Amino acid sequence: MVEPRADVSTNIIFKVDIVVIGAGQAGLSSAYHLGKLGLAVGRQFLVLDSNPAPGGAWQHRWPSLTLSTVNRVHDLPGMQFSEAVDTGDGDVKASVAVPEYFASYERRFNLPVYRPVTAKVVCDRSGRLRIETSRETFSARGIINATGTWENPIIPIYPGADLFQGQQLHTHDYRGADAFAGKHVIVVGGGISALQHLDEISKVTSTTWVTRREPQFREEPFTVEDGRAAVASVEDRVRRGMVPGSVVSVTGISLTPALRAARDRGALRRLPMFDKITKDGVRWSDGSEQRADIILWATGFRSALDHLAPLQLREDNGGIVMGGRLATQVEKDPRVHLVGYGPSASTIGANRAGAAAARELASHFGLI
Ligand SMILES: Cc1cc2nc3c(=O)[nH]c(=O)nc-3n(C[C@H](O)[C@H](O)[C@H](O)COP(=O)(O)OP(=O)(O)OC[C@H]3O[C@@H](n4cnc5c(N)ncnc54)[C@H](O)[C@@H]3O)c2cc1C
Repeated sequence: MVEPRADVSTNIIFKVDIVVIGAGQAGLSSAYHLGKLGLAVGRQFLVLDSNPAPGGAWQHRWPSLTLSTVNRVHDLPGMQFSEAVDTGDGDVKASVAVPEYFASYERRFNLPVYRPVTAKVVCDRSGRLRIETSRETFSARGIINATGTWENPIIPIYPGADLFQGQQLHTHDYRGADAFAGKHVIVVGGGISALQHLDEISKVTSTTWVTRREPQFREEPFTVEDGRAAVASVEDRVRRGMVPGSVVSVTGISLTPALRAARDRGALRRLPMFDKITKDGVRWSDGSEQRADIILWATGFRSALDHLAPLQLREDNGGIVMGGRLATQVEKDPRVHLVGYGPSASTIGANRAGAAAARELASHFGLI
Protein backbone atom coordinates (compact mmCIF):
# COMPACT_ATOMS: atom_id res chain seq x y z
CA MET A 1 0.00 0.00 0.00
CA VAL A 2 1.30 3.46 -0.85
CA GLU A 3 2.01 5.20 2.44
CA PRO A 4 2.14 8.97 2.22
CA ARG A 5 4.41 10.22 4.97
CA ALA A 6 4.46 13.48 6.84
CA ASP A 7 8.17 14.01 6.33
CA VAL A 8 8.31 13.80 2.53
CA SER A 9 8.69 16.87 0.39
CA THR A 10 5.37 18.34 -0.77
CA ASN A 11 6.55 18.37 -4.37
CA ILE A 12 6.19 14.59 -4.44
CA ILE A 13 2.75 13.94 -5.82
CA PHE A 14 0.89 10.75 -4.92
CA LYS A 15 -1.12 9.47 -7.83
CA VAL A 16 -4.25 7.39 -7.27
CA ASP A 17 -7.49 6.88 -9.14
CA ILE A 18 -9.89 8.12 -6.48
CA VAL A 19 -9.37 10.23 -3.38
CA VAL A 20 -12.11 10.27 -0.75
CA ILE A 21 -11.94 13.44 1.31
CA GLY A 22 -13.35 12.97 4.82
CA ALA A 23 -13.67 9.87 7.02
CA GLY A 24 -17.07 10.36 8.65
CA GLN A 25 -19.99 8.06 7.88
CA ALA A 26 -20.11 9.29 4.28
CA GLY A 27 -16.39 8.84 3.57
CA LEU A 28 -16.15 5.45 5.27
CA SER A 29 -19.17 4.12 3.42
CA SER A 30 -17.68 5.33 0.13
CA ALA A 31 -14.30 3.74 0.92
CA TYR A 32 -15.91 0.45 1.95
CA HIS A 33 -17.76 0.27 -1.38
CA LEU A 34 -14.67 1.20 -3.42
CA GLY A 35 -12.92 -1.73 -1.72
CA LYS A 36 -15.87 -4.04 -2.37
CA LEU A 37 -15.77 -3.09 -6.05
CA GLY A 38 -12.22 -4.44 -6.14
CA LEU A 39 -10.21 -1.21 -6.21
CA ALA A 40 -6.77 -1.68 -4.68
CA VAL A 41 -6.45 -0.17 -1.22
CA GLY A 42 -4.00 2.73 -1.15
CA ARG A 43 -2.97 2.35 -4.79
CA GLN A 44 -6.29 2.99 -6.51
CA PHE A 45 -8.08 4.81 -3.71
CA LEU A 46 -7.35 6.36 -0.36
CA VAL A 47 -9.07 8.54 2.23
CA LEU A 48 -7.83 11.82 3.67
CA ASP A 49 -9.21 13.02 6.98
CA SER A 50 -8.44 16.22 8.84
CA ASN A 51 -9.39 14.85 12.26
CA PRO A 52 -6.59 13.43 14.38
CA ALA A 53 -8.58 10.25 15.18
CA PRO A 54 -11.44 8.15 13.77
CA GLY A 55 -15.03 9.27 14.41
CA GLY A 56 -15.74 12.08 11.95
CA ALA A 57 -17.62 14.96 13.55
CA TRP A 58 -19.07 12.65 16.19
CA GLN A 59 -15.87 12.93 18.25
CA HIS A 60 -16.67 16.64 18.79
CA ARG A 61 -20.34 16.34 19.76
CA TRP A 62 -21.31 17.55 23.23
CA PRO A 63 -20.95 15.06 26.10
CA SER A 64 -24.65 14.94 26.97
CA LEU A 65 -25.51 13.69 23.48
CA THR A 66 -25.86 9.98 24.11
CA LEU A 67 -26.90 7.07 21.95
CA SER A 68 -30.39 7.41 23.41
CA THR A 69 -30.70 11.15 22.65
CA VAL A 70 -29.42 11.10 19.05
CA ASN A 71 -32.09 10.39 16.44
CA ARG A 72 -30.37 7.21 15.40
CA VAL A 73 -26.90 6.34 14.17
CA HIS A 74 -27.32 3.79 11.41
CA ASP A 75 -24.79 0.97 11.05
CA LEU A 76 -22.13 1.43 8.40
CA PRO A 77 -22.32 -1.15 5.60
CA GLY A 78 -20.93 -4.58 6.48
CA MET A 79 -20.54 -4.22 10.27
CA GLN A 80 -23.01 -3.66 13.06
CA PHE A 81 -22.50 -1.04 15.74
CA SER A 82 -22.99 -3.69 18.43
CA GLU A 83 -20.02 -5.68 17.09
CA ALA A 84 -17.71 -2.85 18.13
CA VAL A 85 -19.39 -1.11 21.04
CA ASP A 86 -21.33 -2.29 24.07
CA THR A 87 -24.22 0.16 23.88
CA GLY A 88 -25.56 -0.92 27.31
CA ASP A 89 -28.56 1.13 28.38
CA GLY A 90 -28.13 3.76 25.67
CA ASP A 91 -26.54 6.34 27.96
CA VAL A 92 -23.17 5.93 26.27
CA LYS A 93 -21.78 9.22 24.95
CA ALA A 94 -22.12 9.45 21.16
CA SER A 95 -18.74 11.24 21.13
CA VAL A 96 -17.10 8.11 22.55
CA ALA A 97 -19.16 5.26 21.10
CA VAL A 98 -19.26 6.36 17.45
CA PRO A 99 -15.50 6.99 17.24
CA GLU A 100 -14.88 3.52 18.76
CA TYR A 101 -17.15 2.01 16.14
CA PHE A 102 -15.50 3.91 13.27
CA ALA A 103 -12.03 2.92 14.51
CA SER A 104 -12.99 -0.78 14.54
CA TYR A 105 -14.59 -0.37 11.14
CA GLU A 106 -11.46 1.16 9.59
CA ARG A 107 -9.40 -1.71 11.00
CA ARG A 108 -11.84 -4.46 9.99
CA PHE A 109 -11.93 -3.37 6.35
CA ASN A 110 -8.33 -2.18 6.19
CA LEU A 111 -9.46 1.24 5.00
CA PRO A 112 -6.57 3.44 3.89
CA VAL A 113 -7.32 6.56 5.97
CA TYR A 114 -4.53 9.13 6.28
CA ARG A 115 -4.83 11.65 9.10
CA PRO A 116 -4.53 14.32 10.09
CA VAL A 117 -4.49 15.56 6.50
CA THR A 118 -6.61 18.54 5.43
CA ALA A 119 -7.47 19.06 1.77
CA LYS A 120 -6.81 22.76 1.22
CA VAL A 121 -7.37 23.19 -2.52
CA VAL A 122 -8.69 20.93 -5.26
CA CYS A 123 -8.08 22.12 -8.80
CA ASP A 124 -7.83 20.79 -12.32
CA ARG A 125 -4.35 19.97 -13.65
CA SER A 126 -4.29 18.66 -17.21
CA GLY A 127 -7.50 16.70 -16.81
CA ARG A 128 -6.64 15.25 -13.39
CA LEU A 129 -7.64 16.62 -10.02
CA ARG A 130 -4.80 18.00 -7.95
CA ILE A 131 -5.47 17.89 -4.20
CA GLU A 132 -3.19 20.13 -2.20
CA THR A 133 -3.27 19.25 1.47
CA SER A 134 -1.71 20.24 4.77
CA ARG A 135 0.87 17.52 4.00
CA GLU A 136 1.47 15.92 0.61
CA THR A 137 -0.11 16.72 -2.73
CA PHE A 138 -2.28 14.10 -4.39
CA SER A 139 -3.37 13.67 -7.99
CA ALA A 140 -6.57 11.75 -8.71
CA ARG A 141 -8.84 11.02 -11.61
CA GLY A 142 -11.87 11.65 -9.42
CA ILE A 143 -12.85 12.55 -5.88
CA ILE A 144 -15.61 11.65 -3.48
CA ASN A 145 -15.99 14.63 -1.22
CA ALA A 146 -17.38 13.70 2.19
CA THR A 147 -16.29 16.60 4.37
CA GLY A 148 -19.56 17.09 6.29
CA THR A 149 -20.61 20.39 7.82
CA TRP A 150 -19.18 20.46 11.34
CA GLU A 151 -16.30 22.80 10.53
CA ASN A 152 -18.66 25.35 8.97
CA PRO A 153 -21.01 26.70 11.66
CA ILE A 154 -23.43 29.41 10.54
CA ILE A 155 -23.78 32.49 12.73
CA PRO A 156 -26.14 35.04 11.18
CA ILE A 157 -25.09 38.67 11.26
CA TYR A 158 -27.13 40.95 13.54
CA PRO A 159 -26.36 44.58 14.25
CA GLY A 160 -24.64 45.13 17.58
CA ALA A 161 -23.06 41.68 17.79
CA ASP A 162 -19.66 43.28 18.36
CA LEU A 163 -21.02 45.35 21.29
CA PHE A 164 -22.30 42.38 23.29
CA GLN A 165 -20.33 41.98 26.50
CA GLY A 166 -21.54 38.47 27.24
CA GLN A 167 -20.48 35.31 25.46
CA GLN A 168 -21.62 34.15 22.02
CA LEU A 169 -21.39 30.44 21.30
CA HIS A 170 -22.51 28.13 18.53
CA THR A 171 -23.73 24.52 18.79
CA HIS A 172 -20.24 23.71 17.55
CA ASP A 173 -18.83 24.98 20.89
CA TYR A 174 -21.55 23.66 23.22
CA ARG A 175 -20.13 21.35 25.89
CA GLY A 176 -23.22 20.89 28.11
CA ALA A 177 -25.49 22.99 30.30
CA ASP A 178 -23.60 22.96 33.60
CA ALA A 179 -21.34 25.86 32.67
CA PHE A 180 -24.42 28.08 32.24
CA ALA A 181 -25.85 27.74 35.78
CA GLY A 182 -26.90 31.15 37.14
CA LYS A 183 -26.65 32.86 33.72
CA HIS A 184 -29.43 33.88 31.37
CA VAL A 185 -29.09 32.10 28.03
CA ILE A 186 -30.78 33.07 24.76
CA VAL A 187 -31.00 30.08 22.44
CA VAL A 188 -31.43 30.99 18.76
CA GLY A 189 -32.70 28.46 16.22
CA GLY A 190 -35.62 26.18 15.45
CA GLY A 191 -33.93 22.84 14.78
CA ILE A 192 -33.31 19.73 16.81
CA SER A 193 -30.01 20.99 18.25
CA ALA A 194 -31.69 24.17 19.56
CA LEU A 195 -34.38 22.12 21.25
CA GLN A 196 -31.90 19.75 22.83
CA HIS A 197 -29.88 22.70 24.14
CA LEU A 198 -33.03 24.34 25.54
CA ASP A 199 -34.15 21.14 27.19
CA GLU A 200 -30.81 20.74 28.96
CA ILE A 201 -30.11 24.38 29.80
CA SER A 202 -33.61 25.15 31.07
CA LYS A 203 -33.08 22.52 33.77
CA VAL A 204 -30.18 24.49 35.26
CA THR A 205 -30.95 28.15 34.51
CA SER A 206 -33.30 30.65 32.85
CA THR A 207 -33.60 30.70 29.06
CA THR A 208 -35.20 32.63 26.20
CA TRP A 209 -35.88 30.92 22.90
CA VAL A 210 -36.02 32.83 19.62
CA THR A 211 -36.55 31.54 16.09
CA ARG A 212 -37.11 33.21 12.73
CA ARG A 213 -40.12 31.08 11.87
CA GLU A 214 -42.82 29.62 14.08
CA PRO A 215 -41.60 26.04 14.76
CA GLN A 216 -43.92 23.31 13.50
CA PHE A 217 -44.33 20.74 16.26
CA ARG A 218 -46.00 17.46 15.59
CA GLU A 219 -47.51 15.20 18.22
CA GLU A 220 -46.92 11.98 16.33
CA PRO A 221 -43.47 10.45 15.67
CA PHE A 222 -41.95 10.41 12.19
CA THR A 223 -42.91 7.57 9.96
CA VAL A 224 -40.63 6.01 7.36
CA GLU A 225 -42.80 7.74 4.74
CA ASP A 226 -42.21 11.15 6.37
CA GLY A 227 -38.47 10.52 6.24
CA ARG A 228 -38.63 9.51 2.58
CA ALA A 229 -40.72 12.55 1.67
CA ALA A 230 -38.26 14.89 3.42
CA VAL A 231 -35.27 13.34 1.65
CA ALA A 232 -37.11 13.44 -1.70
CA SER A 233 -37.80 17.13 -1.24
CA VAL A 234 -34.14 17.93 -0.49
CA GLU A 235 -33.05 15.73 -3.42
CA ASP A 236 -35.38 17.62 -5.72
CA ARG A 237 -33.83 20.91 -4.60
CA VAL A 238 -30.24 19.84 -5.27
CA ARG A 239 -31.13 18.30 -8.63
CA ARG A 240 -32.43 21.76 -9.55
CA GLY A 241 -29.20 23.37 -8.32
CA MET A 242 -30.69 24.96 -5.23
CA VAL A 243 -28.99 25.18 -1.85
CA PRO A 244 -30.09 21.99 0.03
CA GLY A 245 -32.06 23.50 2.97
CA SER A 246 -32.66 21.77 6.28
CA VAL A 247 -34.66 18.59 6.66
CA VAL A 248 -36.49 20.01 9.73
CA SER A 249 -37.92 22.79 7.55
CA VAL A 250 -39.68 20.01 5.62
CA THR A 251 -40.62 17.59 8.41
CA GLY A 252 -41.36 19.73 11.46
CA ILE A 253 -40.22 18.62 14.90
CA SER A 254 -41.58 15.51 16.52
CA LEU A 255 -42.36 15.96 20.23
CA THR A 256 -40.32 13.39 22.12
CA PRO A 257 -41.07 12.74 25.82
CA ALA A 258 -38.10 15.01 26.72
CA LEU A 259 -39.46 17.85 24.58
CA ARG A 260 -42.96 17.41 26.00
CA ALA A 261 -41.51 17.74 29.49
CA ALA A 262 -39.56 20.85 28.42
CA ARG A 263 -42.76 22.32 26.99
CA ASP A 264 -44.64 21.57 30.22
CA ARG A 265 -41.90 23.38 32.20
CA GLY A 266 -42.45 26.42 29.96
CA ALA A 267 -39.04 26.13 28.29
CA LEU A 268 -40.45 26.05 24.74
CA ARG A 269 -42.14 29.45 24.74
CA ARG A 270 -40.81 30.87 21.53
CA LEU A 271 -40.26 34.52 20.66
CA PRO A 272 -39.65 35.93 17.17
CA MET A 273 -36.11 36.95 16.20
CA PHE A 274 -34.78 40.10 17.80
CA ASP A 275 -33.58 42.99 15.62
CA LYS A 276 -30.46 44.01 17.46
CA ILE A 277 -27.89 42.78 19.88
CA THR A 278 -27.05 45.28 22.59
CA LYS A 279 -24.24 45.61 25.11
CA ASP A 280 -26.02 43.37 27.58
CA GLY A 281 -28.73 41.53 25.69
CA VAL A 282 -31.05 41.77 22.71
CA ARG A 283 -33.76 44.18 21.55
CA TRP A 284 -36.88 43.62 19.44
CA SER A 285 -38.40 46.13 16.99
CA ASP A 286 -41.20 47.03 19.47
CA GLY A 287 -38.51 48.25 21.90
CA SER A 288 -38.71 45.32 24.31
CA GLU A 289 -35.41 43.96 25.57
CA GLN A 290 -33.98 40.84 27.17
CA ARG A 291 -30.83 40.86 29.21
CA ALA A 292 -28.51 37.91 28.55
CA ASP A 293 -25.16 36.51 29.60
CA ILE A 294 -24.93 34.06 26.72
CA ILE A 295 -26.30 33.92 23.19
CA LEU A 296 -26.18 30.35 21.95
CA TRP A 297 -26.54 30.18 18.16
CA ALA A 298 -28.06 26.83 17.20
CA THR A 299 -28.35 28.09 13.66
CA GLY A 300 -26.92 25.14 11.80
CA PHE A 301 -23.98 24.38 9.59
CA ARG A 302 -23.09 24.71 5.93
CA SER A 303 -21.34 22.05 3.84
CA ALA A 304 -17.57 22.40 4.10
CA LEU A 305 -16.75 22.79 0.40
CA ASP A 306 -14.41 25.79 0.28
CA HIS A 307 -11.47 23.66 -0.87
CA LEU A 308 -13.44 22.85 -4.06
CA ALA A 309 -13.86 26.53 -5.02
CA PRO A 310 -11.31 26.43 -7.91
CA LEU A 311 -13.50 23.82 -9.64
CA GLN A 312 -16.31 26.42 -9.88
CA LEU A 313 -19.06 23.92 -9.17
CA ARG A 314 -21.56 26.46 -7.82
CA GLU A 315 -24.33 28.25 -9.68
CA ASP A 316 -25.01 31.96 -9.21
CA ASN A 317 -27.48 31.16 -6.40
CA GLY A 318 -24.78 29.28 -4.46
CA GLY A 319 -26.27 25.84 -5.16
CA ILE A 320 -24.66 22.97 -7.08
CA VAL A 321 -26.61 21.04 -9.73
CA MET A 322 -26.47 17.40 -8.70
CA GLY A 323 -27.15 14.30 -10.80
CA GLY A 324 -26.54 10.56 -10.74
CA ARG A 325 -28.67 7.85 -9.17
CA LEU A 326 -28.77 9.38 -5.67
CA ALA A 327 -27.84 12.95 -6.59
CA THR A 328 -24.20 12.60 -5.55
CA GLN A 329 -22.61 13.45 -8.90
CA VAL A 330 -21.82 17.08 -9.73
CA GLU A 331 -23.36 17.75 -13.15
CA LYS A 332 -20.75 20.36 -14.08
CA ASP A 333 -17.87 18.01 -13.28
CA PRO A 334 -18.76 14.29 -13.16
CA ARG A 335 -15.33 13.51 -11.69
CA VAL A 336 -16.61 14.96 -8.43
CA HIS A 337 -19.17 13.32 -6.14
CA LEU A 338 -20.53 14.92 -2.97
CA VAL A 339 -21.62 12.44 -0.33
CA GLY A 340 -23.21 13.55 2.94
CA TYR A 341 -24.48 16.61 1.06
CA GLY A 342 -28.16 17.51 0.67
CA PRO A 343 -30.34 14.37 0.65
CA SER A 344 -27.50 12.22 2.00
CA ALA A 345 -26.79 14.39 5.07
CA SER A 346 -27.80 11.69 7.57
CA THR A 347 -26.17 8.45 8.64
CA ILE A 348 -28.50 6.32 6.55
CA GLY A 349 -28.34 8.72 3.59
CA ALA A 350 -24.54 8.75 3.74
CA ASN A 351 -24.46 4.94 3.67
CA ARG A 352 -26.53 4.69 0.50
CA ALA A 353 -24.91 7.64 -1.20
CA GLY A 354 -21.45 6.19 -0.56
CA ALA A 355 -22.44 3.03 -2.42
CA ALA A 356 -23.88 4.99 -5.36
CA ALA A 357 -20.93 7.39 -5.61
CA ALA A 358 -18.32 4.60 -5.45
CA ARG A 359 -20.02 2.61 -8.21
CA GLU A 360 -20.73 5.58 -10.48
CA LEU A 361 -17.26 7.07 -10.17
CA ALA A 362 -15.45 3.76 -10.60
CA SER A 363 -17.54 2.99 -13.66
CA HIS A 364 -17.05 6.53 -15.05
CA PHE A 365 -13.31 5.80 -15.19
CA GLY A 366 -13.77 2.21 -16.41
CA LEU A 367 -12.30 0.80 -13.20
CA ILE A 368 -15.03 -1.82 -12.84
C1 LIG B 1 -25.51 17.58 16.41
C2 LIG B 1 -25.82 16.62 15.31
C3 LIG B 1 -26.54 15.47 15.57
C4 LIG B 1 -26.84 14.58 14.55
N1 LIG B 1 -27.57 13.47 14.83
C5 LIG B 1 -27.86 12.60 13.84
C6 LIG B 1 -28.59 11.41 14.10
O1 LIG B 1 -28.98 11.15 15.22
N2 LIG B 1 -28.84 10.55 13.08
C7 LIG B 1 -28.40 10.81 11.80
O2 LIG B 1 -28.63 10.00 10.89
N3 LIG B 1 -27.70 11.93 11.52
C8 LIG B 1 -27.42 12.82 12.50
N4 LIG B 1 -26.73 13.95 12.21
C9 LIG B 1 -26.18 14.12 10.85
C10 LIG B 1 -25.03 13.12 10.70
O3 LIG B 1 -24.13 13.25 11.76
C11 LIG B 1 -24.26 13.26 9.40
O4 LIG B 1 -25.12 13.58 8.35
C12 LIG B 1 -23.61 11.92 9.08
O5 LIG B 1 -22.91 11.47 10.21
C13 LIG B 1 -22.70 11.98 7.89
O6 LIG B 1 -21.53 12.56 8.29
P1 LIG B 1 -20.42 12.97 7.26
O7 LIG B 1 -19.55 11.82 6.98
O8 LIG B 1 -21.05 13.66 6.10
O9 LIG B 1 -19.64 14.12 8.06
P2 LIG B 1 -18.68 14.14 9.31
O10 LIG B 1 -19.02 13.16 10.35
O11 LIG B 1 -18.64 15.59 9.68
O12 LIG B 1 -17.27 13.72 8.70
C14 LIG B 1 -16.58 14.57 7.84
C15 LIG B 1 -15.09 14.29 8.01
O13 LIG B 1 -14.43 15.04 6.99
C16 LIG B 1 -13.28 15.63 7.57
N5 LIG B 1 -12.96 16.83 6.80
C17 LIG B 1 -13.67 17.99 6.72
N6 LIG B 1 -13.05 18.85 5.88
C18 LIG B 1 -11.93 18.21 5.43
C19 LIG B 1 -10.88 18.59 4.54
N7 LIG B 1 -10.87 19.78 3.92
N8 LIG B 1 -9.88 17.70 4.31
C20 LIG B 1 -9.88 16.47 4.92
N9 LIG B 1 -10.87 16.07 5.78
C21 LIG B 1 -11.87 16.93 6.01
C22 LIG B 1 -13.68 15.95 9.00
O14 LIG B 1 -12.53 16.04 9.80
C23 LIG B 1 -14.55 14.74 9.35
O15 LIG B 1 -13.77 13.71 9.93
C24 LIG B 1 -26.41 14.86 13.22
C25 LIG B 1 -25.67 16.02 12.95
C26 LIG B 1 -25.40 16.91 13.98
C27 LIG B 1 -24.63 18.18 13.67
